[in-house]
Amino acid sequence: TLSRRITNFKAGDELNSIANSFNGMLDRLQLAFDREQRFSAAAAHELKTPLTVIKTNLDVFDLDETHSKEDVEDILGVVKKQTDRMVMLVNDLMILSTNHACNRNDKVSIDKLLAEIREEMLPDMINKSIKFRMDTVPCNITANAVMIKHAISNLLNNAIKYNVDGGQISVSAYTEENRCIICIVDTGIGIEEDKTKYIFEPFYRVDKSRSRTVGGAGLGLAITKEIIMQHKGTIVHGKNEPQGSKFTVTLPLA
Ligand code: ADP
Repeated sequence: TLSRRITNFKAGDELNSIANSFNGMLDRLQLAFDREQRFSAAAAHELKTPLTVIKTNLDVFDLDETHSKEDVEDILGVVKKQTDRMVMLVNDLMILSTNHACNRNDKVSIDKLLAEIREEMLPDMINKSIKFRMDTVPCNITANAVMIKHAISNLLNNAIKYNVDGGQISVSAYTEENRCIICIVDTGIGIEEDKTKYIFEPFYRVDKSRSRTVGGAGLGLAITKEIIMQHKGTIVHGKNEPQGSKFTVTLPLA
């Protein structure tokens, strides 16, 4: 830890204020180090879980001399599922940890992008009998098309995952001054007021056991926020009355 602070400094005002700035800088560095440490610990933990499952399955496989076709299929199924999970996790970690010097010059039509994402997620919505409404006007932004799609897909994916069977999702996109505003509203389980300040932090999940059953390591919103910030936009969470969540994203228009 960065424990060295300048203390008991008896000097003129000017030197005192330098000492204070120095101490303040150390505090901020300490916070950054702590955050990095928590991030690495959580990442290691998330990777360890699927690895342990794979290893346990392979160990059993080793001991057993005679393998029926079903056993082999079962074990390969588990190994494949856990490997897929690790690949997704590593992809997410890479997005969060690389400082993208990526191109942000694509012309992106938000209304077309939303329609595309809806098409892709239709089977998941049908699966949960979710009613979907979309209301958009033409909104063009300059962005990295792949990243923006990833960010918005995460929000829509959550609106499905944390929704109730037979729930609703409303998506709208409109322009206000020089900004495009995208709202994704669901009638799902919602987020308790005191938890909302953590949801954009990496690896945070409101309900760990429940979230585990719907997959996800708690990186989706952190990635979404990171991408939106890189495009000079904002994202906020609000409540949907009487039930559910509302995420509002603003992005500068082209
Ligand atoms: P996860 O992989 O767990 O979905 P996210 O970073 O996307 O991770 O979201 C973080 C947490 O915020 C989720 O685990 C969930 O508890 C909560 N959350 C996100 N979106 C919603 C939503 N639309 N409704 C209710 N809770 C949500």
